[in-house]
Amino acid sequence: MKSDGKVLLVGGGAIGMLSAFLLGRSGMQTCILDQGATGRESSWAGGGIVSPLYPWRYSAAVTALAHWSQDFYPGFGQRLLDETGIDPEVHVTGLYWLDLDDEAEALAWAARVGRELFAVDIAEAYDQVAVLGAGFKRAIHMPGVANVRNPRLVKALRAALTAMPNVELREHCPVTGFIQENGQIRGVTTAAGEIRADRVVLAAGAWSGELLKTLGLELPVEPVKGQMILFKCAEDFLPSMVLAKGRYAIPRRDGHILIGSTLEYAGFDKTPTDNALESLKASAEELLPALRDAEVVGHWAGLRPGSPEGIPFIGEVPSYPGLWLNCGHFRNGLVLAPASCQLLADLMLGREPIIDPAPYAPSGRLQ
Ligand SMILES: Cc1cc2nc3c(=O)[nH]c(=O)nc-3n(C[C@H](O)[C@H](O)[C@H](O)COP(=O)(O)OP(=O)(O)OC[C@H]3O[C@@H](n4cnc5c(N)ncnc54)[C@H](O)[C@@H]3O)c2cc1C
Repeated sequence: MKSDGKVLLVGGGAIGMLSAFLLGRSGMQTCILDQGATGRESSWAGGGIVSPLYPWRYSAAVTALAHWSQDFYPGFGQRLLDETGIDPEVHVTGLYWLDLDDEAEALAWAARVGRELFAVDIAEAYDQVAVLGAGFKRAIHMPGVANVRNPRLVKALRAALTAMPNVELREHCPVTGFIQENGQIRGVTTAAGEIRADRVVLAAGAWSGELLKTLGLELPVEPVKGQMILFKCAEDFLPSMVLAKGRYAIPRRDGHILIGSTLEYAGFDKTPTDNALESLKASAEELLPALRDAEVVGHWAGLRPGSPEGIPFIGEVPSYPGLWLNCGHFRNGLVLAPASCQLLADLMLGREPIIDPAPYAPSGRLQ
């Protein structure tokens, strides 16, 4: 087992915490620094679908990470439950897409990449999802898609990390910049002073671009606000995830139903708005009319780490040895987390990487 010197992770979302978990398991001394509490930003706010919303619209780079992660999630969820007693609830419900414009492309993609995705008779969709709104004409179905209860996932990750003797968590510790020495990054500056390390991993989600500006680097990662609403229904109300016109419904095991989401370029503002509430309620009622009589029990916003084509940045920054990136997962950070963090760990530990790292390398993608 290779055990290099200390690694600092800037950001304790799903990406930072899972990176620390995998590096820690390999014997590395790791420390997570978060400006707030860990797992309270996008990784808490997201919907937790363990698939891109329209997987066929993404590049092979995103697909490679998604597929590796999808196979990893069920066993990982069980392992976290066994270790921490907190169940991330990896819930395999399948997903129906309704009245898609690019159904043919979706089916051709599935055949090409060997994923189970079928056109189904709309009557079958109504049989399977009795609460579905009237008037949909076509459906395609992917039976194996899961959702993960992401607030529980981050809680379980935090508990697992707390139990690891070689992992330290420092919350409410905002990182303000990087320590440079002889052309190397040797730690970070924080409100509470300098913290030194052999390597630093930037996993600060939507804030990653701002932090790299302190080194004069342009990282195209920007905040993209997403709002969701939550209902509480009977446990068996909705047996499958459903998606139409860009809006989706996600059932949790206990009958909570999430409806998402908006996509807004509004800087770092995270305030939920009345407009979004009305628009999400209208989508909810169109998809599942029975929700008209249900109470909205939650409404929040999170900041996705937006990046070009949603391709994350994973690897070392060539101009700053010692500085590594794992950020820019945009709409898919929960599904892409396992493969992204495993790839980062492989690269940092000098192991054979699980997939070709080239598409995610910062080299040539920063200015
Ligand atoms: C409404 C919505 C729905 C979504 N649905 C899905 C979905 O269904 N499936 C899916 O896969 N993905 C989904 N996502 C996207 C997913 O949530 C994100 O891609 C993912 O959570 C990003 O994880 P992260 O760890 O990079 O960022 P975050 O979870 O935002 O974590 C970044 C952390 O860095 C910390 N930080 C920032 N700056 C500093 C600093 N200067 N010093 C110290 N710490 C700092 C923050 O406090 C934060 O804890 C959704 C997102 C939203 C908003």
